[in-house]
Amino acid sequence: MKINLAKSAGFCFGVKRAINIAMETAKTNQPVLMLGDIVHNEDVVKKIQNSGVRKTKRLCQGKGKTLLIRAHGCSKKILQRAKKSGYLIIDATCPMVKEIHAIVKNLENRGFRIIVIGDKSHDEVKGIVGQLKTKAIIIDNLSNIPFKKISSIKKAGVVVQSTQNLDKVEEIISILRKNISKLEFHNTICRPTRSKQDEIKVMPLKNDVMIIIGSKTSANTKRIYEISKSLNKRSYWVNSSNQIKDSWLAKAKNTGITAGASTPESTIQEVVQKIKALCAV
Ligand code: SF4
Repeated sequence: MKINLAKSAGFCFGVKRAINIAMETAKTNQPVLMLGDIVHNEDVVKKIQNSGVRKTKRLCQGKGKTLLIRAHGCSKKILQRAKKSGYLIIDATCPMVKEIHAIVKNLENRGFRIIVIGDKSHDEVKGIVGQLKTKAIIIDNLSNIPFKKISSIKKAGVVVQSTQNLDKVEEIISILRKNISKLEFHNTICRPTRSKQDEIKVMPLKNDVMIIIGSKTSANTKRIYEISKSLNKRSYWVNSSNQIKDSWLAKAKNTGITAGASTPESTIQEVVQKIKALCAV
């Protein structure tokens, strides 16, 4: 059986950068804390914790401590509170997320009501809306467009969580355009996500089976899986090689493999080796 590994599989540059910053910061002498997980992958989080970075839920007295801001970024309020508490701030926010922050602030200053297309509960979205003085509207789905709220908006500025599915976003935008007379849309889906989505629109059609690797907490892996599944019923989402069942590969001549932006290369290689081993039996 032939194994086809996606070119875009695995770490994006934003995740690589955040991990490098975390590892470097851990070498300093003072305690390093992060609010939640650096990226959405259990193995990566474990590796970073083993290097000495501690996870915390709450900010306390920060004098003599470092606070690491994760790849998803955080709200202005958290940053201000951390500085006030005395933390030394090391910011590992992905530059593409920072760009979204700058766009929404600019739109708000120009009098636009902000609409964010993304998952309400995702840290990146919380960080984006947390840059604003006004309350943003968050739309997570085509079926959840708040028509009553948007009917009174005169001009809206729309941005997108960096890992959203472009097709879904375009559908939402076309409905918003029909309901809001002045709409400025910024497609802020990041380049690595676009490459992954371009590949995943083709790979499931060319392979008998698709294996998507990534943590169940990873938003971009979820999106890749959803696209793959819609094109090929034999699409499976795993977070490690242990979860692969040989029945999935029955009669398959080729298997496509891809992985979310926070999946380490070591996990991808373990999956490749596991599939090779199952095919050799
Ligand atoms: S998925 Fe995109 S926005 Fe998120 S960390 Fe990677 S490059 Fe940055």
